[in-house]
Amino acid sequence: MSATILEGAPVAAAIRATVMREVTELAAHGVVPRLEVLLVGDDPSSRVYVSSKAKASQEVGIRSATHALPAEVSAEELGARIAALNADDDVDGILLQLPLPRHLEARSFLDRIDPGKDVDGFHPINVGLLHQGRPRFVPCTPAGIIALLEEAKVRLEGARAVVVGRSEIVGKPMAALLLARHATVTTCHSRTRDLAGVCREADVLIAAIGKPALVTREFVREGAVVVDVGVNRVEDGQLVERLYPGDEARRAQLVKKGYTLVGDVDFTVVREVASAITPVPGGVGPLTIAGLLANTVRAARQRRGL
Ligand code: NDP
Repeated sequence: MSATILEGAPVAAAIRATVMREVTELAAHGVVPRLEVLLVGDDPSSRVYVSSKAKASQEVGIRSATHALPAEVSAEELGARIAALNADDDVDGILLQLPLPRHLEARSFLDRIDPGKDVDGFHPINVGLLHQGRPRFVPCTPAGIIALLEEAKVRLEGARAVVVGRSEIVGKPMAALLLARHATVTTCHSRTRDLAGVCREADVLIAAIGKPALVTREFVREGAVVVDVGVNRVEDGQLVERLYPGDEARRAQLVKKGYTLVGDVDFTVVREVASAITPVPGGVGPLTIAGLLANTVRAARQRRGL
């Protein structure tokens, strides 16, 4: 068997089209949604993510601005920036790009974002609402994965779902969303015993680990649906050749950029046993930004009771 490839782009495009319709509807009320992004330091990946978010916002008619702060910014200054954005009634969404430099503890700043403007869905109130089954802002990556699974008509009710990873950003909200759709959910992490054995029980396996190709063929039951959230920069040419034998495009990318992006799943071997699988890149990635746009429009509507 060779798995169906679950591409994120068409689902992301459908979400963006809905967002654009909603932006037009809001315009009739004189409202143009506004998203403000706080970027601290000069992490190259964060810069790329933030500029993609700004570009995507503009494309759907959301106003967006990035506040670039130096890596050595004080906790007081960052806190003051968040407070100012909270107080500005014209701002609908606030996003604090992670990771933060080591001297700033992310949680204490995420907690200060107005929950009504928390378009990442990381504030404890929004996390609580999600776990109570009455979500307001759902974290963007897991929300996108659910949209992808629904589009692919993957049956979640009664299914065995295994999520590898328990981060606040992906693993935990992913498990909550699957549970809300009546899957029987197991969440795994670095201390799970017999990880491969637990994963093999899954009808739906979500890998959100951050370890290139950790999920190998022995983790996957025949016919399972596999979602690969991982985005890992791999620079080792031998590893790339082992994971993607004869893949000229990958080899060319490695030469040009010095790295290629590899998921948490050994795609080449797992696609032979899974019924459906997301590629990296091109699977989950495009959905994350689409989810952010959807949350920003939701915030604009909810804040004005529209
Ligand atoms: P974190 O580092 O926050 O969490 C990783 C999780 O994986 C932890 O729960 C950790 O366990 C678990 N883990 C680590 N090693 C193992 C192991 N050997 N066996 C089992 N579990 C393990 O990562 P994130 O959740 O933020 O991200 C995960 C991946 O997804 C990354 O590659 C990231 O780049 C990618 N990502 C992609 C996005 C996209 O849009 N495509 C968006 C967000 C993330 P423990 O808790 O015990 O430490």
